[in-house]
Amino acid sequence: MLRHAATAIPQRDARLLLAHVLDVPADRMTLILRDAVSAPQRDAFDALVARRAAGEPVSHLVGRRQFYGRWFEVTAQVLDPRPETETLIETALEVDFTRVLDLGTGSGCILLTLLAERPDATGLGLDLSEAAVELATRNGGALGAHKRAAFAVSDWFERATGRFDLVVSNPPYIAAEEMPGLAVELSFEPRMALTDEGDGLSCYRRIAAGADAHLHPGGWLMVEIGPTQAQAVAGMFTAAGLGEVGIRQDLDGRDRVVLGRKPL
Ligand code: GLN
Repeated sequence: MLRHAATAIPQRDARLLLAHVLDVPADRMTLILRDAVSAPQRDAFDALVARRAAGEPVSHLVGRRQFYGRWFEVTAQVLDPRPETETLIETALEVDFTRVLDLGTGSGCILLTLLAERPDATGLGLDLSEAAVELATRNGGALGAHKRAAFAVSDWFERATGRFDLVVSNPPYIAAEEMPGLAVELSFEPRMALTDEGDGLSCYRRIAAGADAHLHPGGWLMVEIGPTQAQAVAGMFTAAGLGEVGIRQDLDGRDRVVLGRKPL
C-alpha cells in the first residue's frame, strides 16, 4: 500500500511502523523478522500503514522523531523536526554561547539540542502555542535539560527578558500563496508553524527588529530560511545593524540559514 502512497521511502516507513507496533528498536528489526506476529499486532500495523498511505507523517504515528541524534516527542501540534534544521544547529555550534533564546520553539528540538551539545549553556524557548510549550517542556524533562531550559508562551520577543549570546529561530516562512501547492504531509502539521499568512518574510521582519534589544554585544542571530529567501533576510539583518552577515547551505546545497552578529 505504501509503495503507491505519499511516501518517498515506503520500506523505511513500513519498518519504522512495524518496529513501533512490536515495541522494538527499528535497528533491531532484522533480528526478529522471522518471529510470528500476533493478529492484534498485524491489525495495528495495517491501521498505521493505512494512515501513512493517507499522508500522515511517521512521526505522528509513532509519536516521536530523531533530531541531531536525539529522540523528541512529536505531536500534530508542532512542526515535525526536519533534517535540514540540523544546518541551523551546525551553524550555532560554530560560535560560543552560554545563554540562548529560541523563538517559535515548537517541539523544543533546536533549543534542547543546543543545550545538550553545550552542557554549560542555559536557554529560553518561546512559542505562541500553549500546546507547543507543554510539549517542549516534556521534551526538556525527557532529555534531562529541565534545569537549563525554560519555556513560555510568547508572541515572538514579548516575554523575553534579558539579553542573549545567541538567538535562533525556525519561523513559519512559507508564503500564504504557496500553501495550496504543498505536499499532503504538511497538512497534518499546524498551519501556524508553516506559514505567516503573508509573503513568508514577515516573521523575519519581527525577529530582525527585536534582535538588537535582546542580544549582548557580539551575540549572534541565526534563522532558518526557505531556499529563496536568503538575500531578503540577509538584507533585513544588515538594515537592523547586524554585522558579519552570512548565508549557509543545507546538505542539499540550498540556502538554509542566515546569520548576523551584533557589533561588539
Ligand atoms: N521547512 C518547512 C518546509 O518547507 C517549513 C517550516 C517553516 O516554515 N519553518 O517543509
